Amino acid sequence: MRIDDVKIVDPFFSIENGWIEFGESITSYGKSTKASNSSFILMPGFVDTHVHGGAGYDFMDEKIDFRELEKHFFSTGVTSVLATTLTAPVERINNAIDNVRKRMKENPLTPLKGVHLEGPFISKKHVGAQNPDFILKGNILNLKKIVDGNEDIVKIITIALEESDDEVIDYIQSKGMTISIGHSDATFEQFIRFYKAGVKHMTHFCNAMTPLHHREIGLVGAGLKFDDVDLELISDGIHLDEEMISLILKFHPHDRIIAITDAMRAAGLKDGEYDLGGLKVKVKDNSARLKDGSLAGSVLKYNEGLRRLHDLGLNLNEVATVSSFGPSAILKSESPIGRIMPGYDADFVIMDDNFSVLKVFKKGKIVFSREGG
Ligand SMILES: [Zn+2]
Repeated sequence: MRIDDVKIVDPFFSIENGWIEFGESITSYGKSTKASNSSFILMPGFVDTHVHGGAGYDFMDEKIDFRELEKHFFSTGVTSVLATTLTAPVERINNAIDNVRKRMKENPLTPLKGVHLEGPFISKKHVGAQNPDFILKGNILNLKKIVDGNEDIVKIITIALEESDDEVIDYIQSKGMTISIGHSDATFEQFIRFYKAGVKHMTHFCNAMTPLHHREIGLVGAGLKFDDVDLELISDGIHLDEEMISLILKFHPHDRIIAITDAMRAAGLKDGEYDLGGLKVKVKDNSARLKDGSLAGSVLKYNEGLRRLHDLGLNLNEVATVSSFGPSAILKSESPIGRIMPGYDADFVIMDDNFSVLKVFKKGKIVFSREGG
């Protein structure tokens, strides 16, 4: 297949008036000699490494209509997803992992690329909207109950390392999984110890972690200080004040920022009451909150989060970096994704310059097309 007349945006270059040829993967691309007035943008499909669901479904549900859920992801430009679990009884987490594995086998065009375990190894002090009843201590015995036999698809483990045994860092890394510190009460000094052991990832930076105080700079200070730490960022304008996002963009290398939604099941649906891991959540005016007012995930659409980051100063190449190139490195997928280059999967999004998604391709097949588009 061939697409003409688009602005190609890769993390490292752009081509005005470009063309691209592809089968399942990209075969070639270039610049057209004919003049064009198209303002459509083609960039790598977005990669959401932290998302709990959408279109009414949560990855923790016993039964999921994956077609509906996948349609929702594609409609927001997302072509790769890490299904993110919640703090829940071990059997429920294992059931969620099994569902994801089954779907990955059954649909070659699924955006599912694996699992992000968020909990149950978290701190009671930064529980966020996780259910505290099911928190477990981070030790090898408990980890094995979930991870054993699932090392191939569990890609990220969010863990409060200060509450965990020291051996878990080596254990998780030896299995090729990424450790992300999150829902954590770790001090800056404690973080230095984990950082020296190779921990270079933070879950929803600033949310559910020790804040920056000028005499104890906490995990937020650590994330800003160390350039080689990946920071997950929810840019819904609610989890982080826009001024804080600007500050992060100013101080942190953009290729170490990972745009996520942390969306829950109500994403793509109307305001109302929903469930999150057995907790009641009220969704109103783009925010999802528990009864006590704590934030309970987002209802952010990935493309809209990127529009906000663009408005706050990221250029389009940087947008492609935070949405595809950076997060795709964590997936370690069999075929390369996240760039517009020959040999990379033909996963891409065509959108207008307002970040409205018009068409989405997954492995060269159209998986979303806006009506009339
Ligand atoms: Zn989450």
